[in-house]
Amino acid sequence: MTVLHNRISQKELKERLYQETEPRTTISFYQYIFIEDTKVFRDEFYKQLNALNVFGRIYIASEGINAQLSVPKSNFNLLEEYLHSIEPMKDVRLNIAVSDDGKSFWVLKVKIRDKIVADGITDSSFSMQNKGKYVDASTFNHLTKSPETVVVDMRNHYEYEVGHFENAIEIPSDTFREQLPMAAEMLKDKKDKNIIMYCTGGIRCEKASAYLLHNGFKNVFHLEGGIIHYANTVKEKNLTNKFHGKNFVFDDRLGENVSDEIISKCHQCGKPADTHTNCKNEACHLLFIQCDECATKYDGCCSAECQRVYNLPIEEQKELRKGIDKGRNIFNKSRQRLRPRLRE
Ligand SMILES: [Zn+2]
Ligand SMILES: [Zn+2]
Repeated sequence: MTVLHNRISQKELKERLYQETEPRTTISFYQYIFIEDTKVFRDEFYKQLNALNVFGRIYIASEGINAQLSVPKSNFNLLEEYLHSIEPMKDVRLNIAVSDDGKSFWVLKVKIRDKIVADGITDSSFSMQNKGKYVDASTFNHLTKSPETVVVDMRNHYEYEVGHFENAIEIPSDTFREQLPMAAEMLKDKKDKNIIMYCTGGIRCEKASAYLLHNGFKNVFHLEGGIIHYANTVKEKNLTNKFHGKNFVFDDRLGENVSDEIISKCHQCGKPADTHTNCKNEACHLLFIQCDECATKYDGCCSAECQRVYNLPIEEQKELRKGIDKGRNIFNKSRQRLRPRLRE
């Protein structure tokens, strides 16, 4: 029988990756498709991708598939062919990472999950089969010319804070699962209006569009490929850019400028700033916006108190940290309190 998972140690796998001479391409994609037997689908998917020497992290659920992976350059076309050969995936958009060394994955993991995006929906009649219509960048620009069109941001608070579309409504909640019912409630008198939802890459707003349709909304759209694809398209086709500020991406860069404007403020002094940073005090690690001057003044810390701790000898800092459950804290303007990080 074919082995459908790897049996080699992590260390050896990593070493093998670094010995590879052929460059890899890192790609991500998602697709909501109905998968009847996730186990069968998963095993076949694993087998095919493994044969192409693909590494990555892939989630399969009965509602679809969400994947981040790397493939040796010479196998890219074969991978694309295979994915497109799965009938409901024939048009799947493969997002190619631009600045990447292809070393992000050294093993292939294909896992079965309950959902590809946790949504907290318990209503069994909810289905991703009925979702909103895709809009591309030019249709988005056209539809939003009308003041009657409602634009809804389905990302987190700190993402909205540094950049968003003109006139976009923020759904001020901590988590996506809370945002869904909140959005339906906030928009309840707009059930006949054109509603366009967006998020970073499209996976969340696509689900949100299905949720609104499920709740009796009539004309729901979602931005194809999210802000990332929109930003690329307006550049490529020289369209008007209606996104202002920075697109927050949760990796080492913590944001990519889509326009030159700075729409947010330093959390310490209030001057225009859009640089997210984590408080240098390890015991705090708060995610917040800090200008260059405050970064110098507070040594990259969020407060004078954190700065005091940060400047103590390492051993003393460790002593102080004992028993504190560190995580990534995020400054939340809407509730004026700290909260733990969202990423698992
Ligand atoms: Zn400042
Ligand atoms: Zn701090």
